[in-house]
Amino acid sequence: MSGILENSPNYKLNKTVLDKFLALPQPENKVQATYIWIDGTGEGVRAKTRTLDFVPKSVSELPVWNYDGSSTYQSEGSNSDTYLYPVAMYKDPFQRGNNKLVMCDTYKYNHKPTDTNHRVACLEAMKKAAAEKPWFGIEQEYTLLDMEGRPFGWPKNGFPGPQGPYYCGVGANKVYARDVVEAHYRACLYAGINISGTNAEVMPSQWEFQVGPCEGIDMGDQLWVARYLLHRVAEEFGVVVTLDPKPMEGDWNGAGAHCNFSTEAMRNDNGIIAIEAAIDKLSKQHLRHIKAYDPNGGKDNERRLTGKHETSTIHDFSAGVANRTASIRIPRGCAEEKKGYLEDRRPASNCDPYSVCNVIIRTVCLNE
Ligand code: ADP
Ligand code: MN
Ligand code: MN
Ligand code: MN
Ligand code: MN
Repeated sequence: MSGILENSPNYKLNKTVLDKFLALPQPENKVQATYIWIDGTGEGVRAKTRTLDFVPKSVSELPVWNYDGSSTYQSEGSNSDTYLYPVAMYKDPFQRGNNKLVMCDTYKYNHKPTDTNHRVACLEAMKKAAAEKPWFGIEQEYTLLDMEGRPFGWPKNGFPGPQGPYYCGVGANKVYARDVVEAHYRACLYAGINISGTNAEVMPSQWEFQVGPCEGIDMGDQLWVARYLLHRVAEEFGVVVTLDPKPMEGDWNGAGAHCNFSTEAMRNDNGIIAIEAAIDKLSKQHLRHIKAYDPNGGKDNERRLTGKHETSTIHDFSAGVANRTASIRIPRGCAEEKKGYLEDRRPASNCDPYSVCNVIIRTVCLNE
């Protein structure tokens, strides 16, 4: 493992030096606001910070800002100003105090949404379906890499032992870089993210955290900020986070973003009827959903949804109680209680949660 961290310039910095400066008193009416947005890949997060001369109480008080979209694959250099519209605000676990993290969506020079702004369509769907009180919970799987792009802690010229002991594993030979996971968990709690848990995954150096239940558009806003926090925390450790859905070929599990979903009717007594009706609608729109479940129209998920490694094949729709090789799983507990939620296991780890939630609402609630 040494050698690996020595290749990380960030790891070599003495992080305790920063503490002296973070301990400086901050002028009361000066607030650092870090604006976060999705870049032109539909997967990457970008962020930059500005000073506000007031303490914002709600997101509506925050100014619109802009950035150079030609440097984020979002515009041409000759017409590069791209707008940041603040949509959600959280506490900043790095700067603390009154400092803020600000999730934004992005607009072109003419104030039309950029190509990777899928929040606009999602918000429209959420408004139409608001009476059904849709809840989402996303299980974000991810893989930690070293600076050479190898899964963190894997032997340089070989492989770890086969999968089996690593899922929810404990011990130095089972899990790597738990520090990143623990730091991220606390950072999310501090920020105000509704993080609901975390676990080590089946492939060594693969982990998961869950966000939810969140109602409506909140799911996308919170998951994107949780991803920002993960990349940002790992940066401090000199570790890289990838959301690639199949980082290692061969007998290694891929990474997904299972989307758990319910409406009020599903959560109420005999909600199983509404759950089954939803599954019936989903079964007729498989291709539409696959196209929305990764940022490349299904291309990324093709490598992951093979029918092996706890996945369903990308070509067919299937559903079942407690079935982890189906497209949709009804959790055992929900089948027993005859109410609860369903789990869509198809979304790739690098999906845009706005696109995923949007298409689920349009299929299940809006009958589009
Ligand atoms: P799994 O057994 O598939 O690993 P997890 O415990 O990792 O499940 O994740 C379950 C997710 O489902 C959590 O994010 C949780 O917030 C979410 N969830 C729980 N109840 C509901 C519900 N009624 N509607 C939507 N999501 C829910
Ligand atoms: Mn500049
Ligand atoms: Mn899980
Ligand atoms: Mn998992
Ligand atoms: Mn799951």
